[in-house]
Amino acid sequence: MDEFAIIQHYFASHSTRYSDDLDLGIGDDCAVFHLSPEEEMVITTDTLVSGVHFFPDAEPCSIGWKSLAVNISDLAAMGAKPRYFTLALTLPSDIQQQQPDFLPEFSRGLFRLSNQCGIDLIGGDTTHGSLSITITAMGTLPRGKAILRSGAQTGDDIYVTGTLGDAALAVELLKCHKEPPAGCRQKLDYPEPRVAMGMMLQDIATAMLDISDGLGSDLRHILERSGCSAVIDLSLLPLSREVREYARNRCGKIPSPDNNLRSPVNTESDRKQQYHEEQSFIQALFGGDDYELCFTAPPDDGIRNKIQDLSRLLNLKVTRIGRVTGNNKFNDASPGEDDNYKICYQYKNQPFFFKKELSGYNHFS
Ligand code: ADP
Ligand code: MG
Repeated sequence: MDEFAIIQHYFASHSTRYSDDLDLGIGDDCAVFHLSPEEEMVITTDTLVSGVHFFPDAEPCSIGWKSLAVNISDLAAMGAKPRYFTLALTLPSDIQQQQPDFLPEFSRGLFRLSNQCGIDLIGGDTTHGSLSITITAMGTLPRGKAILRSGAQTGDDIYVTGTLGDAALAVELLKCHKEPPAGCRQKLDYPEPRVAMGMMLQDIATAMLDISDGLGSDLRHILERSGCSAVIDLSLLPLSREVREYARNRCGKIPSPDNNLRSPVNTESDRKQQYHEEQSFIQALFGGDDYELCFTAPPDDGIRNKIQDLSRLLNLKVTRIGRVTGNNKFNDASPGEDDNYKICYQYKNQPFFFKKELSGYNHFS
């Protein structure tokens, strides 16, 4: 079973609902409950494990920052204001002798972000074992305003913030012991949770999540919960200069024309360029660790203008990359075929097929 099957089989299917004030349990970026008629609380937890979520030699300051950032990113994905967090820390017993700067630097990174976001550390637990960090973060927002994964409507526009694939490029290079471009390293080590944008989308977005496993995989969670499908135009994906440049200069063998992913092209150099561009799409869609927001919103001009105004106000790029379509369940899927909630890719309005089966990051798969 993969990560999501384990959650569904052993936990989500057994979940109870003892309290009336629980508005949403397992399945979204955060759980949602209200303790008063006016205010909603959202809560999320995420663990970072050394060697899985960060390189064992990562800067301790970045480990502190990122442990909190990935949790705040889930709060942002609901449109919530960050309020409180707890920190459960498992440390190797000899860490103070072996790495005397670990704790001072870890806590510096942690509190740099907590101060930036105005979130209070209110408790935790400290134990010994292999290095791992679990944070539980809580946020609030007015009752009924949480932006769920389930609200996307057929026809909605699909947007993403920032650029995609930078952190994945950094990981790819670090795995080959190469130094990534500074911007990519920054996105991997110090992701900026999009809190202000998330909060300002409260009355605009119909559905939202944060991209942690790759857009191609995470967008499916919105589609599944909303009962929709989607069309994404790859030519609109926001790629940084670094990701584009790396794709252009990537060396290595180009597959034979038979394996080519897009329609045939004439010259060898066109084919090479096309192949490299496709590699950058794959990095952006299936790389993971972006911690950008993906959201849907009604396709009218007023809303589109509001979103571009917010983008200018917050100095954060927001790109419209596609649209939500109706579910294909009763249309073109054969019985038993898992063709629902699918993403159809286009390139400049032409259908585009990835030949290989691709998926985002998934523990246990
Ligand atoms: P995210 O990437 O936004 O942190 P995940 O993909 O990790 O979300 O988890 C998907 C959903 O399953 C979330 O609602 C999460 O709270 C829930 N979940 C994950 N692991 C467990 C578990 N062991 N028990 C109960 N719920 C879980
Ligand atoms: Mg999330």
